[in-house]
Amino acid sequence: MATCPSICPYDCPDACGLLITTDGRLATAVQGDPCHPFTNGTLCVKMNHYERTVHSPERLTTPLLRSGPKGANHFTPVSWEKAVNHIADRWQAIIAEYGPEAILPCSYAGTMGLLQRNAGHAFFYQLGASRLERTICSPAKGYGWKAIMGSTLAPHPQEVKSSDLIILWGSNAAATNIHFLQYVKEAKKNGAVVWLIDTYETPTAGIADQVYLVRPGSDAALALGMMHILAKQELLDKEFLAERVQGYDNFQREILPRWTAEAASEISGLPPAIIEAMALAYGRAKVPFISIGSGLSRYGNGAMTVRTILCLPALTGAWTKPGGGATAGTSASSAFAMGQITREDFISTPTRSININQLGMALTEIQPPLQSLYVYHGNPAAVCPDQNRILKGLEREDLFTVVHERFLTDTARYADVILPATSSLEHSDLYCAYGHYCLRRVKPVIAPVGQARSNWDVFQLLAQKMGFHDPFFAQSADEAIDELITHSTNWLDSAAQERLMRGELVELSLPDNYKTTFKTPSGKIEIENRLETATLPEYFPPHGGKQPLCLMTAPSVYGLNSSFLERADLLAQRRTMDLLMNPQDAADRKLHDRQTVIAYNELGEVEFQLTVTTKVPPGVVVAEGVWGLGHSLNGRTVNALVSPRLTDKANGSTFYDTKVEVRA
Ligand code: SF4
Repeated sequence: MATCPSICPYDCPDACGLLITTDGRLATAVQGDPCHPFTNGTLCVKMNHYERTVHSPERLTTPLLRSGPKGANHFTPVSWEKAVNHIADRWQAIIAEYGPEAILPCSYAGTMGLLQRNAGHAFFYQLGASRLERTICSPAKGYGWKAIMGSTLAPHPQEVKSSDLIILWGSNAAATNIHFLQYVKEAKKNGAVVWLIDTYETPTAGIADQVYLVRPGSDAALALGMMHILAKQELLDKEFLAERVQGYDNFQREILPRWTAEAASEISGLPPAIIEAMALAYGRAKVPFISIGSGLSRYGNGAMTVRTILCLPALTGAWTKPGGGATAGTSASSAFAMGQITREDFISTPTRSININQLGMALTEIQPPLQSLYVYHGNPAAVCPDQNRILKGLEREDLFTVVHERFLTDTARYADVILPATSSLEHSDLYCAYGHYCLRRVKPVIAPVGQARSNWDVFQLLAQKMGFHDPFFAQSADEAIDELITHSTNWLDSAAQERLMRGELVELSLPDNYKTTFKTPSGKIEIENRLETATLPEYFPPHGGKQPLCLMTAPSVYGLNSSFLERADLLAQRRTMDLLMNPQDAADRKLHDRQTVIAYNELGEVEFQLTVTTKVPPGVVVAEGVWGLGHSLNGRTVNALVSPRLTDKANGSTFYDTKVEVRA
């Protein structure tokens, strides 16, 4: 028996430290690494038995070729040689007839390691394929941060321990950021008050002292109403505003006067007296801290919403206090020169760019049509908006589809060729996080299961077959990681580089006064951003839709996007594909608890089991977690209801900007 360190590879801000026990052949147990300075040895319920995923009997262990109709799940095992030759031959033929832009890569965040996640970019740039705009998560949140804070570093998450008012704003941390809650709980022990502002009572409500439910997409209106009252009551840090903030006077003159508590109430649904009380409590708190979740950036007004909320700590000067300010996520990947891996310099001619949120349109409507799709560590049939059009595209007999995966996902079922992928315990990688500042290099702790190969190794193999001779395509994964560490940015000093090389945990050190070193063009917080079309933060309505109910496609504690669907133990906790609805809405439609219902809009129809609950306010319905098509009641899951419209900025997804009606 041996115990080896690793890092959780899933799309989660915590990037937990793992300790893997192996018997030399199999991973037999997985625990949290107590030495990890942020995650401190605890794991979420999903990863406590990661060995069940790694050694699941459902793992794909050999390449497969389709031997029946698309989607019918008829495949024949073949050798890697045969599978890769087949792919190369088909691509050469497609390129000869249609050009390389007829090929599209599709990947997102099935694994978050910097090397394996980005392993395909160089290959597809060299090929001249169409490019994928990978904006399915929350780029609007990053855009909103950048519009007002520039490249300013986000606060160290542990700082929240020193706060006296913590606002979890659209953040279901109990499902998506559990280790941050350790520090929130510590602050609570010291007397801090915790608010949850969200659209329904998520599991995170359990830790909150106050829960404020707002209408979906109205968060900016609430923030503006609070700021109107802060200004009126002079609960402002005038010195900070004068010296460290750009554009407050214009904001106060042009925007805030119309955002009375009544005006904010009309949009947000919160009573004026509550908005007033929230503003006074925020303004009087000594060290208020706001943690902004991703969901509220997935409306049509997502970027502007984040930008507006981020004005609050500027008005009160919360940034100057340890434990004060706000976070929309950390960004430690800038410690590395990722261009060494992604190799944009391999693009000889700019090719067309296809937004991942509009993949359904791309597969069915784009001209000239796509002829081939290569999917790796992604499952667009389950996770992308506009599921009906995606499935229609994947059903195309003339679309040559390759899927490199660990499991027979909804997307893999439509593949012409399936390649078996390694799990994170079977390949090398380099991890950072988007919820803290720790880094670690990891090596494989077990041999690949069956004939599985990593993203990196498969792209090196495909490069050989396609005749790419650049030495980049001859490097091993470990050589590429060595290069990334050796030529990292100056955020890593030589001692940190050496520790990373040895596989030790490294926590990036943050410069003194980093929270008040505002990395914007003016050197100030830019409430007024003169480069934006809307120079001042404002409320804009979300996209909306014709139907009366707002559908929240929320995360589940027992799943993560479409990952972990292979785990019967976790699925058992989730029961069925449920739709949560307020008793009043159910009564209005003569619906009752646990009956099968159909949620529908102009994009599709999806059947759910109804759960009638007061945790959801009137006008809102909630579907928690992504399910596989095999678990669905009518062959469709929640993303059949989600539109491919994009956010106001950064071309992000608008998963939460979905309107539906529900019938029996
Ligand atoms: S999914 Fe998130 S919380 Fe769970 S182990 Fe992985 S990083 Fe940690």
